[in-house]
Amino acid sequence: MSSTDATDRSRRSLLKGAAIPGLAAVTGVPSTIQAQSRLGTNTAGTPQVKRYVRLGRTNMEISDISFGASRLRLGQEHLVHHALDRGINYFDTAEMYTDGDSETVIGNALKGKRKDDYLVGKRVTGSTESAASMMQALEESLRRLQTDYIDLYMMHAINSIECLKNPGWHAFNEKAKAQGKIRFVGVSGHAGNLAECLDYAIDHDLVDAMLVAFNFGQDPKFYESITRSFDMVATQDQLPRILAKAKTKDVGIVAMKTLMGARLNDMRPFESGGATYSQAAFRWVLSNKDVDALVISMTDTIEIDEFLGASGATQVAAEDLPLLGRYVALNGHTYCRQACDRCDGACPYGVPIADVLRTRMYATDYRDVDFARREYAVLATDASACLSCSGQPCQGACPHGIAIYELCAPTHRMLS
Ligand code: SF4
Ligand code: SF4
Repeated sequence: MSSTDATDRSRRSLLKGAAIPGLAAVTGVPSTIQAQSRLGTNTAGTPQVKRYVRLGRTNMEISDISFGASRLRLGQEHLVHHALDRGINYFDTAEMYTDGDSETVIGNALKGKRKDDYLVGKRVTGSTESAASMMQALEESLRRLQTDYIDLYMMHAINSIECLKNPGWHAFNEKAKAQGKIRFVGVSGHAGNLAECLDYAIDHDLVDAMLVAFNFGQDPKFYESITRSFDMVATQDQLPRILAKAKTKDVGIVAMKTLMGARLNDMRPFESGGATYSQAAFRWVLSNKDVDALVISMTDTIEIDEFLGASGATQVAAEDLPLLGRYVALNGHTYCRQACDRCDGACPYGVPIADVLRTRMYATDYRDVDFARREYAVLATDASACLSCSGQPCQGACPHGIAIYELCAPTHRMLS
C-alpha cells in the first residue's frame, strides 16, 4: 500500500507550492548550475536535485537525495523516470527487494538511459558462503538489471563480523571487480552489532562506501539540542564517531531510515511555514558533514517532489527542531533506534528485538505489510517465543521506553 492517499496528495501539492521559496531563504543554498544542466527540460520552480556530492573514494558525484527502491513494484518504471527527470542519479536496490522485482523495474527503466547514473546493488551474504555462490547471485541481479555492471555492490544488512571475515566474500569482490561486474564494494547496516561491523570494515579497509541507518532520533546531537524539553538520553553514541572515522578514510556514507519510521501523515497537522516533516528530517541528516547523501524509498511522484524540497540543504532550518521534537514526542516510545543494541542480551530466547521491531516499522509506519512479511520471513530467529513469554526478562531493557513485549508479540502474530 502506498503511504499516501488522495487527500494527502492534494495537501502536499499545496505545501509543495509554498515550500520551495521559503526553503531557499532558510537554507541559503542556491540551485547549482550542474543541476540545471542535468535538467534541461525542467522549468523554473520544478522540484529538482540541487546538490551533487562526491561519494568518498568512489568519486561518484551523486544526488544528495537519492532513490531507494526497496518498495518498487512491477509497472512502476515511471517513478524511476520521474526521479531521473528531477536529476536523481543514484538508484539503490537489492536482490531481496520485492523478490527481485525492484531490480527488474530499475533495469527496465534505465535501459538505454543510463549515462551518468549510478546503480547500487545489495545482497545478504553468509559467513560461510562461497565466492561461486555469490557470483551466481550477482549474475542473476545483472540479468534482472539488464546491465553488465553495478557501480557499488554491498553486503546487505550486516550484523556479524564473521560475514566480513568470510574469505569467500573477499575472493568474490576481487574477481567481480577484475571482471568489471562491480566497480566498488560496500556494506549496508541497520541491525544489531552495527557499530562493531562498521568499525571492522573501516579498520580493515574493506569498503569504499557504506549505507547506514541514521536519523535525528539516533543522533545524540539532536537530543542535546532539545534537552530542555526532553529528558531522554540518546544511546546511539557510537554512530557519529564511526561516521567521522569513515570520513577520515574517505569512505562514502549514505544514510537510510532517515525518517525515523516515516509516519508522515501524523505530522501533516503540525507542518507550517512551507516545510514538511520529511524535509526537516532530511535537513538534519544532510547537515551532518560526515554524511554524503541519503536514500529514501520513493513510492509516488508527489512524494519524490516533496522529498526534493530538502535537496541542497547543508543546515537545519529554524522551524525544523520543533517539528522533529514533536515527532519524537509522538513516536519515540515505539520507534526502535535499530542497532543501538542496549537491549542486546535481554531476551533469554534469542529474539532479535531490533530486527523484529524494524519489520514492525515497515508494517505499521510504512504501512507496507507485504514488505514487512518478506523481511520478517528472512530473520534467522523470529519472535514466536514472545507469545508464551511473561515479558519480564526484557522489561525495562530499552532506555527509550519501548515496551518490547507489547510490540514484539503482536508483530509475530501480524507477520508470521
Ligand atoms: S528496543 Fe530499545 S534498546 Fe533495543 S535496539 Fe531498539 S531502541 Fe535500542
Ligand atoms: S517478550 Fe520474552 S521472548 Fe519476547 S523479547 Fe522479551 S524476553 Fe524475549
